[in-house]
Amino acid sequence: MTKPVVSIAAYKNPEDTLREAIGMCNGLKDLKSNDQILIKPNLVGWDFEYPVPPYGMLATTALIYGLVHILAEEGFNRITIGEGPLMIPRTMGMAMFNLLGYEPLRERYGVRLVDFNEGEFEKVDFGDFKLSLSKEVLSADKIVNVPVLKTHNQTKVSLGLKNLKGCLNRQSKMFCHGNKNEDLDWYFPHLINKLPLALTIIDGIYALQKGPSYTGEAIRKNLVIASTDPLACDLVGAEIMDYRPEQIPHLQNAAEFVGRSVGLENIEIKGEAVEEHRQFLDYDFEWTPDNTGPMAFQKKGITGFDIRKYDSTLCTGCSITFTPIVVLAMSAFKGEPFPGVELVTGSIQEASPGYEKTVLYGQCACQANKNNPHIKNKIAINSCPPDINEYVDKMKKEGIDCNINGYAGYRQHLVDRYREEDGFEPAHFKEQTI
Ligand code: SF4
Repeated sequence: MTKPVVSIAAYKNPEDTLREAIGMCNGLKDLKSNDQILIKPNLVGWDFEYPVPPYGMLATTALIYGLVHILAEEGFNRITIGEGPLMIPRTMGMAMFNLLGYEPLRERYGVRLVDFNEGEFEKVDFGDFKLSLSKEVLSADKIVNVPVLKTHNQTKVSLGLKNLKGCLNRQSKMFCHGNKNEDLDWYFPHLINKLPLALTIIDGIYALQKGPSYTGEAIRKNLVIASTDPLACDLVGAEIMDYRPEQIPHLQNAAEFVGRSVGLENIEIKGEAVEEHRQFLDYDFEWTPDNTGPMAFQKKGITGFDIRKYDSTLCTGCSITFTPIVVLAMSAFKGEPFPGVELVTGSIQEASPGYEKTVLYGQCACQANKNNPHIKNKIAINSCPPDINEYVDKMKKEGIDCNINGYAGYRQHLVDRYREEDGFEPAHFKEQTI
């Protein structure tokens, strides 16, 4: 049996690098000239209120322009770019396309820009469960999947397969985060069998540790990884971030669903050698062994406010604000212990006895604890996704004065970490001249 080919190209410029990566894996072999091609970049979401560093979080606009240009030159002219980003509370796809410089692609190449959340979804049967997929996705002849080379605090890596979660409607995304029976790693890999995945291109111009959002730490990685085999591409991407297949349950599950092994010896790698670029990127922040908060709490001597570590039921809408609420709690610390507060999130964490106040962060936590007899005083942030300003206001009423200005400063700091002279180029996320 022939091995799937994964190519690894060192980044020079978007078009040359893509041509090299696509050429080495014969990446256009499954495309026909009249195919309706859907490009699915990872554009998970944005925050229009505070500054956001896009590095390692979003696919670069530069690579998307390069890809569209190559496809057009090769005679593929029915191109749609689609994503179903976060809804806070309304969808933001078009605003993101605009912000990231995608608009001119309509006129230059006749590209359709689609926010899946604005369109219709169709239920697809996966045997034991159903998921609602965008009709735009289901009607595509071929999908070119463009994830980012990044880690994920729940799934360890977030590559091509994880990027497909953006094709689901909001309820199905939430469903995929699991329940008491099955977890996140089990649900979304099923998508590998239902979609016409013709090519995966991992955008590794930047990579992200402690991802998947802007609170992680990006590095300039300068790689593009491509394959017509979605599983093989993710396995190699994981290896570049120094994760073995047996460490990544969702890749093991995907392999099982397609009846394959996860061994790298079954993949032919062309171009750059993995060993040359393997670099461990941590996927998570360290928590205290007794689950009372991040290690930073212990280092700063913060007591009386226990923040339980999120589990896999926490979906992106909540997880994107999880680090910010930790930072806000730290900003409220004035050297004295907090008055016995516990904060729980997601749909399976149960508030513990013995606390004066319990913060139920997000609608899921409110629902999961609505009859919890252990709760003395409830601080309910009963929205989905939760609103950080509501959190600050309610905490203040309880005498916990989170410093929102300090938070704005923290957000500015996240952006200021990345300087152009260190290789972080804002132009990669703007309209391109080709
Ligand atoms: S409350 Fe949070 S975890 Fe629950 S569905 Fe909404 S965003 Fe996801």
